[in-house]
This record gives sequence, C-alpha cells and structure tokens, in this order.
Amino acid sequence: MPSKTVLSDDVRAVAADVVAIRRDVHRHPEMGFKETRTADLIERKLKSLGVETRRIAGTGILGTIQGTRPGRTMLLRADIDALPVVELNDVPYRSAVEGVMHACGHDGHVATALGAAAVLMKRRDRLAGTIKLMFQPAEEGPGGAGPMIEAGILEKPKVDAAFAMHMWNDLPVGVIGARPGPVFASADEYTVRIHGKGGHGAAPHQTIDPVVIAAHVTLALQSIVSRKTHPLKSGVVTVGQIHGGVRHNIISDTATLNGTCRALEKPVRAMIKREIHAIARGIAGSFGAKAEVEWRPGYPPTVNDAAMTKLVRAAAAEVVGERNVVAQEITMGEEDMSYVLEKVPGCYWLLGSANAKKGLDYPHHSARFDFDEESLPIGVQVWAKIAERFLGPR
Ligand SMILES: [Zn+2]
Ligand SMILES: [Zn+2]
Repeated sequence: MPSKTVLSDDVRAVAADVVAIRRDVHRHPEMGFKETRTADLIERKLKSLGVETRRIAGTGILGTIQGTRPGRTMLLRADIDALPVVELNDVPYRSAVEGVMHACGHDGHVATALGAAAVLMKRRDRLAGTIKLMFQPAEEGPGGAGPMIEAGILEKPKVDAAFAMHMWNDLPVGVIGARPGPVFASADEYTVRIHGKGGHGAAPHQTIDPVVIAAHVTLALQSIVSRKTHPLKSGVVTVGQIHGGVRHNIISDTATLNGTCRALEKPVRAMIKREIHAIARGIAGSFGAKAEVEWRPGYPPTVNDAAMTKLVRAAAAEVVGERNVVAQEITMGEEDMSYVLEKVPGCYWLLGSANAKKGLDYPHHSARFDFDEESLPIGVQVWAKIAERFLGPR
C-alpha cells in the first residue's frame, strides 16, 4: 500500500471481497451487450447489500442507494465489458474464455463500484439524496451509455452530477488523476471511396488511376491537422487502411481509404469532417475521378466540469494526499461516458493502477495488461469520499 494512502476501517473490511470480485469478473470476461454472467453477479451482489436494482438497456444495471435524508442525486458509473484479446498473463485469475479478456481494467471498475456500494449502504445516514449506480455494458463498442440514457437513467430522480473512474496504468498506484475540461477525444470513422477508370498497367493514359489519387488524398489529409487546426488545439486524422488493385499490371477502377479522426472540441471535430469531404472530392475531381465519403460518428469528446473536478480532487486528496492528485495527460482515446457528461456536469477521474516493480505496467488493451490490486481499495475509498462530499451536509 502506498505510504500516503488513508483507508478507513469499513473500506479495509471490504478490500478482500473487492479483490475476489475483480478476479471472478476477470476470469469470466464478456464482450459488449453479452455481459450476462457479469450482470447476474452485479445484481446478486447489490441485492445481498440491500441495494434496489433494475436491468436496463439489455445487460445494464441501475442500482439505487437512498440516503437517510432527501437531497440531490449523483450517478456513479462503472463499465463492465471486456475486449477480444487472448490473455497472455500467467495468473490464477487468467481469463477462462479464450479470445476474450478484461484488458482495459473494467473488471476493476465493477469491483470498486460494488465495494463502494457496500461501504455507502452502511453510511446512508451521512448521505442526503440518492446515488444511482450505473453498471454499463459495451463501452468498448458499440456503446452502452447511450441506450442507458435512452432508457431514462438520468431521470426520475433527475441526476445532478455524474462521475466515472478508469483504472489507469499510465499512473502509478497511489496517484489519482482528475482535470477540468476535455479528457478524452471524439472518435469518428471515415471511408473514402475513389471511383476512377481501370485499364492496362502499361496504358495509364487510357485510365483514371485511383491508386495515385488515393496517395494524393492521403498526403493532403495530413494538412488538416498541420494547416487547418488552430496550433493550440488538438486533432488527429489517421489513414488506417488503403485498399486498391488486384494485380501488378492492372489499374483498378476503385481505391478505398479508411481511418479515424479525433478531436477534443466540437468545432474542431466538425472542421475535420468538412475538410475530409472537401479534400477527397476536390482532389478526386481534379483527376477526373469521383470520391464518396462515408462518415460513421463515434463517441463525442468527454468533458469534465470544473466544479465537479474540484470536488473529486478534494475527495482524492483526502485519500492519497494532495501531492498525489495530478492533472493527468489528456488522451485522444474515446469514452462513451461522454454522452452522460454532455447532459449533466461531472468528472471522469483516473485511478493510478500501475506498479512497474511488480511488472504491472503494461498498457491498456495489451494482452499482458494487468494492474496492481492495491489500487482497488483506494478506488473504493475515493468513491465513498466523492459521494459524501456531493451528498453530505452543505
Ligand atoms: Zn478500453
Ligand atoms: Zn476502458
């Protein structure tokens, strides 16, 4: 346990159980919207604690904890799904499902949220208001937050603030990250189909070569971030795939580009979309070809509210000490908690979970990803502090 960490007795009392839940969930990972065993486990656990539960949006679960007095409503979100990864860790709790793995740490999210529920159920006399526990499926895709919002999780009672946590291997155990403003990016996918005119590889003058046009488009797309984005703002345009042609001496009719775009702010996101269309069509047109752009919008940027971030930072400082609360690096990864934080103020915070000395510092989504379980009770304690600060006497 990191020396600065302060854990209360009731959190210590549930720590072993929290680790056991984490290992159970880790052994039995399930992909998005197929989390039936995980949902059953969560439901069983919540019921045993006396928490009222309801299934929504398929494998999603809403648990409700009422404080002893009326007051505001906060939402505590944990995502529950795993990834299509073959686990390479040799640990007793290794995934028992070949090709599926909790490689992002969502097993830790389930365990800490259930630990927090156990602690908060016993501290209800300190709470004025309601805690909604949002156990969300399919964060890794296709997205479970949207369906849970559509099912009404933010209403009746209306949620005043929302909080989410991610285990974070870019931070060591004992450190907590929380910063105001954007913390995760939007992520959109695009496909550009270039329709040229095929022919003989030795007679290019009779063709409109879509492969050459795809090369020009790929290069021109690089100028969206370097020339069109404000130098102090962030964006990413990646071409992940180029396909075209079937043989060395045939010029094909079509070529396709496919990639991802990231942005931290909506105007940048909109500009990138506009520019991809303009560049693809303009360049194809200048060669006498046609370009079609298909746009598949992903999650919007995840943006933290300043006041709620201040609350989380204060709660975290009580547990790990002020010096161990950091404004972490923003990542261009995506998160569907963004849909919740578009509707209510809140804070997405990061629980440091790496321990290089124990070899527990592989990146998220790696087949060797694992985290230091010492982080789990810290997570439980911070969750409890956040709830008490938000629903405590004001
Ligand atoms: Zn992930
Ligand atoms: Zn994740």
